[in-house]
Amino acid sequence: METFEYYLDKYAELAVRVGLNVQKDQTVVIMTPIACADFVRMLTKKAYDAGAKDVVIDWDDDEVKALRLKHAPESALREYPMWRANGLEEMAKEGAAFLQIYAPNSDLLKDVDPERVAISSKTTATAREGFLKYLRSNQVNWLMVSFPTAEWSAKVFPELGETERIHKLWEQIFKLTRVDKADPVDAWKQHIETLTTKQNVLNDKRYKQLHFQGPGTDLYIELAPKHLWVAAGSTTDRGIYFVPNIPTEEVFTMPGRNGTNGTVRSTLPLSYQGSLIEGFSLTFEHGKVVEATAEVGQEVLNKMLDMDEGARYLGEVALVPHDSPISQSGLIYYNTLFDENASCHVALGNSYPFTIEGGTTMTPEELAANGYNKSLIHVDFMIGSADMDIDGVYEDGTREPLFRKGTWV
Ligand code: ZN
Ligand code: ZN
Repeated sequence: METFEYYLDKYAELAVRVGLNVQKDQTVVIMTPIACADFVRMLTKKAYDAGAKDVVIDWDDDEVKALRLKHAPESALREYPMWRANGLEEMAKEGAAFLQIYAPNSDLLKDVDPERVAISSKTTATAREGFLKYLRSNQVNWLMVSFPTAEWSAKVFPELGETERIHKLWEQIFKLTRVDKADPVDAWKQHIETLTTKQNVLNDKRYKQLHFQGPGTDLYIELAPKHLWVAAGSTTDRGIYFVPNIPTEEVFTMPGRNGTNGTVRSTLPLSYQGSLIEGFSLTFEHGKVVEATAEVGQEVLNKMLDMDEGARYLGEVALVPHDSPISQSGLIYYNTLFDENASCHVALGNSYPFTIEGGTTMTPEELAANGYNKSLIHVDFMIGSADMDIDGVYEDGTREPLFRKGTWV
């Protein structure tokens, strides 16, 4: 058994070398809560070791964010410091790499008026649209990794003491990101290969639709005609291969915007903008959510769906077997980066242009004509379970089993 520092070092190494794949003379931007400062210093050192030209840190703080949402006048929530958004966009344009440390606190904003949270997130998303476009179309190499904060680990292991829960969550993260393997970089090479094989098999099928069936779920999702299944990593315009999420277990693609019909029930709680939405069902007609009910968080769910026109349409469908290591851990992580890799999921909101053939060079009109959905949000929620069956349906109506009892046939 190696020391904690040994594994932490490997985790940082994996993020910089495999996830982000920092290039010589590249600027690296790290977007992070201040709670992760020590880890950020470690990543910074690794980035320079990998040849980075400069490392720029974009600090944030949950507590400060919450204070602002509680106390600032509403007019302030409708404004965004554009120098910040423009700065990020400028660095993206110049080819910087972006590493985001994602450590959500799902209880942070539970006492804040959802209307104020919605105003602020819409303002932020609108201001940062130009920047996010670079990430969503994979024009730059980027990565999202997580870091166990006190709040997050308390959510996952409420029964344990403070030190013990952080330790326990690290242990899980090291396992689920394969950092506990003798050679994590090599383990990831093999993992990427396995996922890519799945991706290629699905791309050869050319299914017209997927049919999901499970408790509370009977849903048809039409795939975009030029859909491309994507897994593991992507290559930027400049030829950098990167793996944007660590961990990742999914194979995903683009639904046709208007082709989803039926009802789907969530199988895991969704942590959205500092609140939890639980036990919710959505009914779709011609792609659009026409009915939405939640056992917990109805108002937050409504606000999310009312964000803009595209928020009621799907932008992603992803397949993850129920026996993935993350779901085998038997834990709920209240963190989409982990939970989405434990379960089949769909995302409401924006589609990824790279999930259709030629999508990254299409005009907005061409994208729309090819089933692309545009929205300020992209929110994944989990629909898979050990009872989930999925059929692939071909153009001529014939079908074949793809998933049975939650896993690949
Ligand atoms: Zn996904
Ligand atoms: Zn997604």
